Amino acid sequence: MKITRLTVYQVDLPLEHPYWLSGGRLKFDTLDATLVRMDTDEGLTGWGEGTPWGHTYVPAHGPGIRAGIATMARFLLGLDPRRVLELERVMDQALPGHLYAKSPIDMACWDIAGQAAGLPIADLMGGGSRTGRSVASSVGARSVAETREVLARYRARGYIAHSVKIGGDVARDIARIRDVEAQRQDNEILLYDVNRGWSRAQALQVMRACPEVTFEQPCETLDDIAAIRPHHGAAVSVDESLVTLQDATRIARDGLAEIFGIKLNRVGGLTRAARMRDVALAHGIDMFVMATGGSVLADAEALHLAATIPDAACRAVWACQDMLTVDIAGGRGPRNTGGHLYLPEPPGLGVHPDAESLGAPEAVYA
Ligand code: MG
Repeated sequence: MKITRLTVYQVDLPLEHPYWLSGGRLKFDTLDATLVRMDTDEGLTGWGEGTPWGHTYVPAHGPGIRAGIATMARFLLGLDPRRVLELERVMDQALPGHLYAKSPIDMACWDIAGQAAGLPIADLMGGGSRTGRSVASSVGARSVAETREVLARYRARGYIAHSVKIGGDVARDIARIRDVEAQRQDNEILLYDVNRGWSRAQALQVMRACPEVTFEQPCETLDDIAAIRPHHGAAVSVDESLVTLQDATRIARDGLAEIFGIKLNRVGGLTRAARMRDVALAHGIDMFVMATGGSVLADAEALHLAATIPDAACRAVWACQDMLTVDIAGGRGPRNTGGHLYLPEPPGLGVHPDAESLGAPEAVYA
């Protein structure tokens, strides 16, 4: 089987509510999505998606994905998409780094490989759990009152897992954490996501004041997280600083976190993320999984990886679908069902977009 054509679409995905990264930083209201259609000489078609969480969050850029694919395309045409490791090496030779530009290609390859095998991606990867995965919300609020409001909105949709964005003013962060904890429901999974918003000193102030909760990415770098680690008792999740397999092994070996937040677009796709999953499992580290952002296709990709994690080690899947005002797949694919996502049973990814929702392609490589 050979890749015969790559068709690249740009789609704006507006957010239902404008979003502020932790602490009111970096407001944005539309995600820049790149959808890739991969055609083969055997009639199978795969789809990939790369949707950074805005351009201000981590080094990932919607137009950069399209530029990266333009650079890599001629090296990919003619390859067998089922040979994901070969594709990975070819992409690394054609364009070192730029993992976020590679993940949509990796995703489309897994989609085709699953279809060719007659298996959902998670089963092709070794076996997917059919236990529903809790969907995690993203509570990008600022005040105590706003936080309550946004949490209530998600609870009404069945969500039991919440990622509450903090990382601004220390006193306000402590007040918001204490208020959320006071109204926390028994079965809820809560994570306080700092998005790198604190200095080491600020992190220690809040983490010592609230040692019973879990903080995600409290500081900018792994060096920062390592430096404060001996001085607080809180649990830590790392996501923005979990980019390479070397990051994963350092975090695991040095005991820097109890949780990996694996972001598929950030780490370069399912092929690379699966290695991080195994490092986590080998070291007793639990996982949150997310695409980073995007349509139900991106949510489905995250769900496939999450399904390959033993139930007890998978905290939740963060999904973007309930935050968007457009749906490029007409309600198909894995959807929030009482706060859970269930693995789709069709072979491959399990959901493809409606062609008419994508508009004209931005580029075709053949
Ligand atoms: Mg995070």
